[in-house]
Amino acid sequence: MTKDIHSARADFPILKQSVNDHPLVYLDNAATTQKPQVAIDALVDYYTRLNANIHRGNHSLAVQATEAYEGARRKVAGYINAERNHEVIFTRGTTESVNLLAYTYGEKFVQAGDEVIVTQLEHHSNYVPWQQMCLRRRATFRILPFNEHGELDLALFERMLNEKTRLVAVNHVSNSLGTVNPVEEIIRLAHAHEVPVLVDAAQSVQHIAHDVQSMDADFYVFSGHKMYGPMGIGIFYGKEKWLEALPPFLSGGEMIDNVTPEKVTFNVLPYKFEAGTPNVAQAIGLGVAIDYLKQFDPLELQNYEEDLLTYGLNLLAEIPDLVIYGSPSHRSGILPFNVNGIQHYDMGVLLDTMGIAVRTGQHCTQPIMDALHISGTVRASLALYNSREDLEKLADGVRRIIKMLKR
Ligand code: PLP
Repeated sequence: MTKDIHSARADFPILKQSVNDHPLVYLDNAATTQKPQVAIDALVDYYTRLNANIHRGNHSLAVQATEAYEGARRKVAGYINAERNHEVIFTRGTTESVNLLAYTYGEKFVQAGDEVIVTQLEHHSNYVPWQQMCLRRRATFRILPFNEHGELDLALFERMLNEKTRLVAVNHVSNSLGTVNPVEEIIRLAHAHEVPVLVDAAQSVQHIAHDVQSMDADFYVFSGHKMYGPMGIGIFYGKEKWLEALPPFLSGGEMIDNVTPEKVTFNVLPYKFEAGTPNVAQAIGLGVAIDYLKQFDPLELQNYEEDLLTYGLNLLAEIPDLVIYGSPSHRSGILPFNVNGIQHYDMGVLLDTMGIAVRTGQHCTQPIMDALHISGTVRASLALYNSREDLEKLADGVRRIIKMLKR
């Protein structure tokens, strides 16, 4: 039996509070989602019952903590349908995962004159690490622009691919416009040139159907805190053949096999990429968040959130002087807008006085804002516990602010 989406809100204790004397309407989910009680309990339970350093210990707590941590890895691998558990590496989040690849792949596979392609829709976390790596390796940093709908042009992408292209990095869903990018097609085109692809799934893994094997992603990264799990834990998935070929990223304890003054040999996967004591409690918490998510029917979840998005965009579109950014044919989770004559920052502060949490500014996507010739947007973003009522309160709040400021 799958869980009813309408019952989800009750599982998130933080949503029961009032903010500025109004029941909280939390619409900043692209920044971070709230956590269900079960995921919060998992952290407390770990430190109450299980805490021990993992892998190296042979006492009971160390063995149990290790089993719980490795159990979490299996849950993640199952959730994204990785072929092997050791293709799942725990990191601190999407940003660290992208940096892991930019440093290791850059060192091993990118030479002067080579090219790396990212898109103009990327979050800085999937943009700056590639730009910096290209500078270090004297490679060319190429950017696939988006069109007037906020979509990528695949014909142009195909023309950009050539024998010098070493890697493509693209998000599945844009955190600023919500565009769902055709990553399967991008991967297919890149693979035709034997170019591997990194998919930044920070804004998609919690919203839309995903399967790294059918997608054929070479690398796939996301953050636990954006999918109802704890902060400080993220995932770097890579196909085994790539993980074997890449050098380690961080070095130190656990990632070694044998150390002498002259040389070191490295541990097997996944430990080769997990130097030092990992975020054990957070990994276990992420596993519990995945268990929580798996109670819902994934398609029902996706349809529910897409319905909600359309409902919210329609409500906003009726407001005079309100501009919605982008018109992609497939959008997920994000409502980006401004009201003519009102600063996005002011709109955010005033919505907060009504208990409505949204984000304002550039959303770590300055290239998008520059292309749109704006300094930022108001961004409402959705999660499974949001309702039509939340979006009605948002639209009503915006109308009241317009009235107040334009009187
Ligand atoms: N990529 C995308 C598309 C994002 O939306 C974000 C965060 O907003 C990131 C990467 C960075 O995630 P984190 O800060 O969890 O590392």
